[in-house]
Formats: sequence, C-alpha cells, structure tokens
Amino acid sequence: MVEESGRMRVVVIGAGIGGLAAAVALAQRGIEVEVHERADRLGEVGAGLQLGPNAVKVLRGLGILDALLPLSGEPREILSLRWDDAGLRYREPLARITGAAFGDRYLTAHRADVHGLLAGLLPAGAIHLGRMCVGAATHGAVAVARFADGSEVEGDIVVGADGIHSAVRGALFGADAPRFTGQMAWRCMVPIAKVPRMVGPGGTVAIDTRDYVGWIGPNGHVICYPIRGGELWNIFAGHVTDEWVEESWSAPSSVYELLAAYEGWNPALLDMLAAVGPCFKWGIYDRDPLTAWSVGRVGVLGDAAHPMMPTLAQGAAMALEDGAALARCLAEAGDAGDGLSNYDRERAPRAGRVQLQARQQFLNNKLVPPPPPLDRGWIFRHDAMTGQDLRSDVAVAPI
Ligand SMILES: Cc1cc2nc3c(=O)[nH]c(=O)nc-3n(C[C@H](O)[C@H](O)[C@H](O)COP(=O)(O)OP(=O)(O)OC[C@H]3O[C@@H](n4cnc5c(N)ncnc54)[C@H](O)[C@@H]3O)c2cc1C
Repeated sequence: MVEESGRMRVVVIGAGIGGLAAAVALAQRGIEVEVHERADRLGEVGAGLQLGPNAVKVLRGLGILDALLPLSGEPREILSLRWDDAGLRYREPLARITGAAFGDRYLTAHRADVHGLLAGLLPAGAIHLGRMCVGAATHGAVAVARFADGSEVEGDIVVGADGIHSAVRGALFGADAPRFTGQMAWRCMVPIAKVPRMVGPGGTVAIDTRDYVGWIGPNGHVICYPIRGGELWNIFAGHVTDEWVEESWSAPSSVYELLAAYEGWNPALLDMLAAVGPCFKWGIYDRDPLTAWSVGRVGVLGDAAHPMMPTLAQGAAMALEDGAALARCLAEAGDAGDGLSNYDRERAPRAGRVQLQARQQFLNNKLVPPPPPLDRGWIFRHDAMTGQDLRSDVAVAPI
C-alpha cells in the first residue's frame, strides 16, 4: 500500500529504543512512519547503557551524537576488583576494544537520554500512546496491526518493536518458552559523591569515577560506569540464584534485598550500595535465535526479534542497528515486501550470532579461572547505516 503520495508507510509497534531508532531512520529516508506504544506516557527506565562502537555509529548516523556526548561517559580503563578486600585484579585500557580500530567511540549513557533524543527527532504526531497491540497479520499486499480496543491500522509493513514479550512475534511465530538461566540482576544508580575513591588493602587502589569498574566474586559481580555526564554511577549487580525472578525491567526490589545478596562483600562497596536510589530486579532469561524475522509484510526488531543475555551489552546496540538496517533496506529496495525480506536476510544471522556469543560468554564467566573474553571486534566493526564492516586491516585516524 504505497500512499497516494507514492511514499511507503510503516507502522511500528513499541516506542522503546529500537522502535524509536527505526522510526527516526525511516523518517529520515522519506518513509512515512507511525509508532503505536501501549504506555500512556513516553519514557524509559532509569538505567544505564553501554554503547559500543557499532551502536555509536548508528547514533552518529541518526544525528544525535553531538547532543548525547555531553550527557555520556567515555571510560578509558576497566578496573577489576576482588569482591572481599577490593584488591586489584587487573587494570586494562578500554582502547583495546574502542576507537580507531572499530571506527567509533565506546560510550556509556542513561537510557532515558538516548530515548529522549531519538523521540525529539520524530515529526509531531508520529507517536500514538495508550495503544496496546494484540496482533498483526498480512492481508494481500497490506499489513494490519490490531489493538486491544478493537481498532486496526494498516501499513505497507508492520514492525513489532514491542520488546521481550512481543505480541507481534507471538502472532508470527507462536508463543515460545524462555528459560531462566539461574541468574538475576539488580539495576540502580548512585550519586557520584557516594562512590568510594580509595579501596583495597591499606587503601592502595584508586577508583576514577570516569572509568568502568567491576567487583567480581563468588556467585556475582557488580559492574559500574558513569552516566549523565558523570553525575551518576550506573550499577548492574548480577547474582546467581535458584529463585525464579520475573523477566521484567521494572520488578521493584529494595536496598535491603540488594544488600542481603552481597552480604560479606567489601564494606566500601556495601556502603555505596546502601546509598542507591530506586532499585529494580530482573531475571535473566535465554532464548534461541529465530531463523527468520518476518512473515509476509510483518516483521520484528530489537528484543522482540533477539532477546539476549546482557553479557555483551549488545541488546540495545542490536536494536539500534536493526532500525538503521530496516530503513536502508526499504529505501534501497523501493518495495516494502522486498525490502523487508532483505532486512530479514541481513539481520537475522548477525543478531543470532551475537545472541549465541552472549550465551557463551555467560557460561565462560562462570568458569574458574575464566578464559579470556571472546572476540567482540566483529561486532564493533559493523556500520548498520551502510551495511558495511570496517575492514580490520584498514588504519583509521584516531577519533
Ligand atoms: C540489566 C540489563 C542491562 C542491559 N545493558 C545493556 C547495555 O549496556 N547495552 C546494550 O546495548 N543493551 C543492554 N541491555 C539490553 C537492552 O536494554 C535491550 O535490548 C533494549 O532495551 C531493547 O530495546 P527494544 O526497543 O527492542 O525493547 P524495549 O526497550 O523493551 O521496548 C519495547 C517497547 O514496546 C512497548 N510495548 C510492549 N508491548 C507492546 C504492545 N503489545 N503494544 C504496544 N507497545 C508495546 C513497551 O512499552 C516498550 O516501550 C541491557 C538489558 C538489561 C536487562
């Protein structure tokens, strides 16, 4: 259904980072787009994101990088500490996985900042709130999304960017059964003034709050990095547990529950954890990759397509790549059906490989001693704006 104007029309379900990135990329390529979000208010959960060079290339291409940089962190070093005495395990320059070799920077940012900047690029009226999608299907050359209030919306294609419990994915491929991995995580933030500066035996290890810091111990790890231009430290606390935990970004927890899980860990760490703001917990689930992401004129992107473990910090990065790739494939094909098929063929193998590597890295992390981290260069070198990989043998000027 190319509009009378001759413009292709895409209906995006879900206004998370993936849905908004797709909508911005589509609009920038002259494709008409409307986004339907179930929430009554546009927003993002309070938590941080690591943005590897592949994600930053998309943010740069969409035009929000200049505005994001003052709000971001750019860690120079990974500092790894022991859980009990906060002694130094190792320091490693982050330059090994960032910068010239991969074609862009490695940033850390608040999810709400990335989300807000993307939303700000959309034309007025493009986002429709309070719209709970219950399914989508192809009728001839038209895709139709159905909503809980009985209404329907048509487009040349419908794309489900509706997250881990995607209604669109369910309509295309049926319900699947996620597997609880036996891990859970807390997410919270702390004012930078509450971060301990000198730790370790005799106060011998200096913490620079601009860097990426991890305490590693039995049954868990606590990963921290700066967001909001260095005002806040984002905390991701992973913990092994047999108890079932809801697969949700927003299951409320408490400081007391967090402190109980890390009882016996270094006092400087616990003092910092005692000062966190709102605290949410999240069960880590695992799913196998999908071999195809579309049926007819309906497809999926982001967590709806490739829910993955957070071990590589690539879920949102892949969602950003998906949005950029979808817009490019549709614009280049000039035909909605062909463009969606090309997108599916380009994206499913790459994101599926990242899903499996995230799973393998999670298993490796549990080995004692852990083997060296798996290669992430092939992930970071990709530029989804063009569909090209930066060749590993090409020297690029420092950024
Ligand atoms: C603890 C943790 C840490 C992470 N850290 C990183 C990281 O450092 N770097 C990184 O790249 N990734 C990270 N990720 C992954 C990343 O957060 C997700 O992959 C990303 O948010 C997925 O974006 P999305 O837009 O696909 O889905 P979501 O953010 O889930 O958005 C889906 C949207 O769809 C809406 N919706 C849902 N159902 C419907 C419906 N039926 N109808 C209409 N609207 C609907 C929702 O309200 C929501 O707005 C992390 C994840 C976790 C849990």
